Amino acid sequence: MLEDYPRTIIEFERRFSTEKACRDYLVQLRWPDGFLCPRCGASGGWLATRGRLVCHACRHQSSVTAGTIFQDTHKPLSLWFRAIWHVTSQKSGASAANVQQVLGLGSYATAWTWLHKLRRAMVRPDRDLLCGRVEVDETFISGEEPRGKARKRCTKALVIIAAEENGKGIGRIRMAQIPDRSRRSLHDFIGRTIEPGSKIHTDGCVAYNGLETLGYQHDASVLLGRQKDAATRLLPRVHRVASLAKRWLMGTHQGAVANDYLDYYLDEFTFRFNRRTSKSRGKLFYRLLQQAVQIAPVPHKEMIQAAGTKNTDHYILWSVESIA
Ligand SMILES: [Zn+2]
Repeated sequence: MLEDYPRTIIEFERRFSTEKACRDYLVQLRWPDGFLCPRCGASGGWLATRGRLVCHACRHQSSVTAGTIFQDTHKPLSLWFRAIWHVTSQKSGASAANVQQVLGLGSYATAWTWLHKLRRAMVRPDRDLLCGRVEVDETFISGEEPRGKARKRCTKALVIIAAEENGKGIGRIRMAQIPDRSRRSLHDFIGRTIEPGSKIHTDGCVAYNGLETLGYQHDASVLLGRQKDAATRLLPRVHRVASLAKRWLMGTHQGAVANDYLDYYLDEFTFRFNRRTSKSRGKLFYRLLQQAVQIAPVPHKEMIQAAGTKNTDHYILWSVESIA
């Protein structure tokens, strides 16, 4: 299927004004080569009323939203499409409060949940591996509850960043929270995000040793002395990414990101960063929807439980400091 997406908001409004138009678009994205029955795997079927798809072979009835992040939604798809357009058409994205306001959603919780569902569709872990020469380093993102709370709670997240070297510039990136700086954690991240055969550029930290056994070339630059900013000069790309990510967290989200959700925000940052040179914002809309119909749904309850807190408004002010 050719990449088919609206280029402007006018095109968007014209095209996705009805539920049927939105559903048809999702069908195209989910089954570019034709409908496949989710139960028996047979190809071919027909469209029944209210958007139901009926399998040719076993007569099983499904819908294009079943098994995707849109499953069980009580809101019209056209509203979802507007939320996705709003989030992807702006360079820095949008906060839940902003999405609630712009779409006139009754509750903040709905906007918050939608954004989290979408974030889970932003980075496909098994695809888009980085390659070529790739800088890798860790950084601390530290947070503190805002002033005015009775008890201040500090928290720190160790984040690992990989950035492709593209001449003097940065190619694509990947980032993730890791539990510690052990060899296992570092190697695991590299294995998940970078293609074997690539050249990994790190500092002299011994935990990076042994990457050759995983099929990588390894270029370790040892820092001499303890000059301030040494790591920044040695691995400038990852440190540039760290400071941009911080600015984004503080700007769009005003630092209001709970620790347990940080990974999903990092995924959103990565999604935007890796498409920052896209000529059309419509392409981000297309890509996000395409990925959204290919991942399994996460129930709201589970999303809250995963965070280990019932209070979704709990927040932390983030700042990034590098570790030399
Ligand atoms: Zn079937």
